[in-house]
Amino acid sequence: MRDEGASEREAGLRAELAAAGRAFGARGWVPATSGNLSARLGPDVAIITASGRDKGALGEGDFLAIDLDGAPLGAPEERASAEAPLHGALYRRFADVRAVLHVHSPAATTISLVAGSGEVTLRGYEMQKALAGVTTHEHAEVIPVLPNEQDTVRLSTLVGERLDHHPDAHAYLLAGHGLYTWGWSVAEARRHVEALEFLFDCELRRLALRGDGR
Ligand SMILES: [Zn+2]
Repeated sequence: MRDEGASEREAGLRAELAAAGRAFGARGWVPATSGNLSARLGPDVAIITASGRDKGALGEGDFLAIDLDGAPLGAPEERASAEAPLHGALYRRFADVRAVLHVHSPAATTISLVAGSGEVTLRGYEMQKALAGVTTHEHAEVIPVLPNEQDTVRLSTLVGERLDHHPDAHAYLLAGHGLYTWGWSVAEARRHVEALEFLFDCELRRLALRGDGR
C-alpha cells in the first residue's frame, strides 16, 4: 500500500532542496552544473540531485533515490551525481543528519587552496553562531581541508578518517574543489552553507589585507 505520509514528506524535501539549489545558483555557488544536494528519506535511503542538472534551475523531478553507498535505487538509466558516495558516507557516519549540501563557490574553492596547514580555522566572527551548537564568537571552528581526488569512493574513506579527528566539525573542504556541509534539516544545512560562505569571504578579505597569509 502506498504510504501517503512518506511521499508527501519526500515531495517536501525535493521542494526544499530545489529551492536551496536555486538560491545557491543565484549567488554563483553552483556554476556549470557543479555541486550536489541531498536529503535523507530513511535510515538507509537518501535523495540526491541527478547528474548533470543545473543546480541553479532545479525542479522537484531532478532528484533520485540512492542507498548509502551512493548507488541509484530506481531505474538503471538514472545517474546519481558522481559524488553520491560522499553524501552516503556522511549519512552513515551521522545517524541523525538529514541533509548534505555541496557547493563549488569561489570563496570555498579559493580558501581551500590557501589553507597551507590542511585546515581552515575560523574564530572571532559573530556569524559562527549560525553553526549548530556554537554559542560564541570565541569558538574556534576548525574545517578540515582534504586533497581532491577523482575516486569518490576512496575519497569518502579519507574524509571519514579526517573527521575521526574532528568529531565536532560542521563541514569539510576539498582542495581546489568546494565545500561539504550537513545539518539536521535541509534548512539547517542551507544555513551552514550561507554562514560558511560569508565566513570564507571575510577570511579571504582579512588574509588579503594582512598580506602575510596568516
Ligand atoms: Zn563537487
